[in-house]
Amino acid sequence: MNQHILVVEDEADIAAIVVDYLRHAGYTAEHVADGRAALERIGQIPPPDLTLLDIMLPGMDGLEVLRQARRITQNPVIMLTARVEEVDRLIGLELGADDYICKPFSPREVVARVKAVLRRATLAQPEAAPPPSALVLDEAQWQATLHGTPLALTRREFRLLQVLARQPGRIHSRAQLLDLAYDDTLDVQERAIDSHIKNLRKKLDKVTGGSGHEWIRSVYGVGFAFDAPEA
Ligand code: CA
Repeated sequence: MNQHILVVEDEADIAAIVVDYLRHAGYTAEHVADGRAALERIGQIPPPDLTLLDIMLPGMDGLEVLRQARRITQNPVIMLTARVEEVDRLIGLELGADDYICKPFSPREVVARVKAVLRRATLAQPEAAPPPSALVLDEAQWQATLHGTPLALTRREFRLLQVLARQPGRIHSRAQLLDLAYDDTLDVQERAIDSHIKNLRKKLDKVTGGSGHEWIRSVYGVGFAFDAPEA
């Protein structure tokens, strides 16, 4: 099964070359020229396996596309940027881009980066993810069950758990959690996340009572990671 790459780039000739190289490298690839079209495509099922996302786009810029895309999928995103200053913004914003490539680039370099990022993403796929029966998150009902027992989470706790559990083992900073799990970030302090995490842990522990498994690990100075129990 070929991996599918979405190229978001408003410069048609650059996009055409990149798409061409990606196809030669064995990927399927498609091109859209603006941010809204990109989000529309990323929202389809299945989402692209990887998105190459230009920052300077007409209408909605690439950073906003990335922010919104992260609510839909954690599949890798490589940013394309014409200016080095944008790289700082990219990193500073902690929006969760997987890599970035500065323009001008060679299409070969793009293919090499795509390969590397996809390989990394595949390796990071959790082998020890909780079996589907253990933790079930029903988004339609805002209902989480662990081993069949309802967890009675608040919406915030549900969203936090959803974001963390989607990528077991991956460390999320408070800023990332704020961005991904909270819709109304204006009145939420990063510190509030700590108390929501504390409540989540309590509710998870209550079900697995005394197994000693730490569901949500604190990483000092960095953030939190969801750890699936060893099977
Ligand atoms: Ca552009």
